[in-house]
Amino acid sequence: MGKYDTYVEQCTAHFKALLEEQLEREDRMEADDEKKDFANLDHIVIGFCGGDGIGPVITAESRRLVEFLLKDDIASGKVELKDIDGLTIENRLAVGKAIPDDVLAELKTCDVIMKGPTTTPTGGTMESANVAMRRELDLYANVRPTKVPSEDIDWIFFRENTEGEYVLGSKGVEVPDKLAFDFKVTTKAGTERICRAAFEYAKNNGKDYVAIVTKANIMKKTDGNFTKIAHEVAKDYPDIKAEDWFIDIMTANLVNPARRSQFQVFVMPNLYGDIITDEAAQIQGGVGTAGSGNLGDKYCMFEAIHGSAPRMIEEGRGKYANPCSMFKASEMMLRHIGYIEKADKLAKALEICNDTERKYVITGRDGGATCEEFGNYVMETVSSL
Ligand code: NAD
Repeated sequence: MGKYDTYVEQCTAHFKALLEEQLEREDRMEADDEKKDFANLDHIVIGFCGGDGIGPVITAESRRLVEFLLKDDIASGKVELKDIDGLTIENRLAVGKAIPDDVLAELKTCDVIMKGPTTTPTGGTMESANVAMRRELDLYANVRPTKVPSEDIDWIFFRENTEGEYVLGSKGVEVPDKLAFDFKVTTKAGTERICRAAFEYAKNNGKDYVAIVTKANIMKKTDGNFTKIAHEVAKDYPDIKAEDWFIDIMTANLVNPARRSQFQVFVMPNLYGDIITDEAAQIQGGVGTAGSGNLGDKYCMFEAIHGSAPRMIEEGRGKYANPCSMFKASEMMLRHIGYIEKADKLAKALEICNDTERKYVITGRDGGATCEEFGNYVMETVSSL
């Protein structure tokens, strides 16, 4: 018997189970063609889920803003706002689940969810609540816009959100003191739907260029298939140019003023999207300035792109947290559920408050505006438009 036989047998059995599970997942995706028309629902439930650290502070502020913007439709009963408690690190650790069952059941009573950042413990096996929510609600498209008008930058990123490097991120194998394996999975149905979302967006928003970003020269199976499927989808959009890029040079191009304004829409697997969208947010002015949409066919979730900033709470600075990324997320949510005019007004107000007028400035510390003061400022500005 070889000295690693036990590990080889254990890992082979583990891989067999994963392969079967992933094939079943692909089958389910292929069979499922139910799609909710979020912009035309007679009744829409918006859930607010605070999360950890500064999450509850900035989520409460975005709830106040949405309540203010949609007051008429809330009064008429068309829109219902719902508070969802319990997605805290304490509860998650207590029940040993990334999303406690009762919280998941509540989330599933909503159409769209506004979610504050959640803390993910480093090490251990506790999955990130975000990764779990994206999987449980099948939120397959992570959409992040980036705009810097003075630099002629108007990008939108479509990051695959449910598979790639993340779907089995907590299910790798390890031979202690020898080696570790993680798995990356790209399915046909999963790639097709994210690519279609990107090309549909391009078509519906007057864009004529989609950059397909992978590392297909190295990751030949997963990224190779992603690229191939993206080009198959692209055939249905003959007026849109589809071009392959590798993630390394694309990362450089985003900081190259001579090239970057040529890009419009990007589509890419999960990990590359995770990294490059933070780079893009930084180019826009920092992670505090960006919101993100996690779109699926049955549910959607909108969130800040930064984390829970636990130190701000430890140092008693929670009330100075910047709500702007949740406000941007609110703008994306309003647009997605059909309130285009209100979303445009909010976008304009955020530009005035953050860039041109700056009557209240958030610094994250005593001396700067509080989250609530800034929220009032944005609402007053919206009213003046
Ligand atoms: P972080 O984004 O929480 O903090 C980075 C820095 O930015 C800190 O200095 C923080 O004080 C500041 N900051 C962030 N948001 C701010 C705001 N709204 N106003 C003012 N200052 C703000 O990143 P981190 O420290 O790497 O992560 C902390 C925790 O958040 C980790 O557990 C991580 O896993 C989690 N996280 C969650 C999400 C999510 O839920 N979407 C995203 C990223 C990180």
